[in-house]
Amino acid sequence: MAKYIGPVCKLCRREGEKLFLKGERCFSPKCSFDKRDYAPGQHGRTASRGRGRESDYGRQLRAKQRARRVYGVLERQFSRYYKVANARRGLTGLNLLQILESRLDNVVYRLGFASSRAEARLMVTHGHFVVNGRRTDVPSMLLKDGDELAVRQESRKLTYFKNLNDLVEKRNVPAWLERDAKALSGKVARLPERSEIDGSLNEQLIVEYYSR
Ligand code: SF4
Repeated sequence: MAKYIGPVCKLCRREGEKLFLKGERCFSPKCSFDKRDYAPGQHGRTASRGRGRESDYGRQLRAKQRARRVYGVLERQFSRYYKVANARRGLTGLNLLQILESRLDNVVYRLGFASSRAEARLMVTHGHFVVNGRRTDVPSMLLKDGDELAVRQESRKLTYFKNLNDLVEKRNVPAWLERDAKALSGKVARLPERSEIDGSLNEQLIVEYYSR
């Protein structure tokens, strides 16, 4: 189960915008993008971003990289998701976004049980969640309509989860998910529609990237 282990804030600077990968820190004065909003590296202040016109390939690549980084997925798995999305009926781009949204770590984050997808991923790998009554530690598990998840009974004794109820209630939950904040559980009511997914992701460019 490979994951990116490099400096996370550099990814925001590379993409030229805040990707909100570090939970509460992203909204605090500690956010490094707010201090240095130029690309990382020795020539960061002058390189690529803001220099000349970007090629079509460049825009497609950036759209793909951005989506990968937002969801914390490595290249090989992302291209596998694209193949699955392409094989499904309907719009490939929307299928791809729905696959990314239905990952277990994303659903845990969307339900407000974690402040970022990275934190959600960590909680899942530590085995703190059950899906349809069965313990799982696979953050890339894809959930479907009707799947239910909850914090494991044993994990509720931990301080993090004892304090979670109040925090969870303050976090919005999208309409395609149902949440019981008191019970620390949730359900996938249906797959998200396009309007319910991050509007800054450009799935059309991602499809163009893989269709070259
Ligand atoms: Fe990006 Fe968050 Fe780091 Fe700011 S704190 S640079 S938004 S990951």
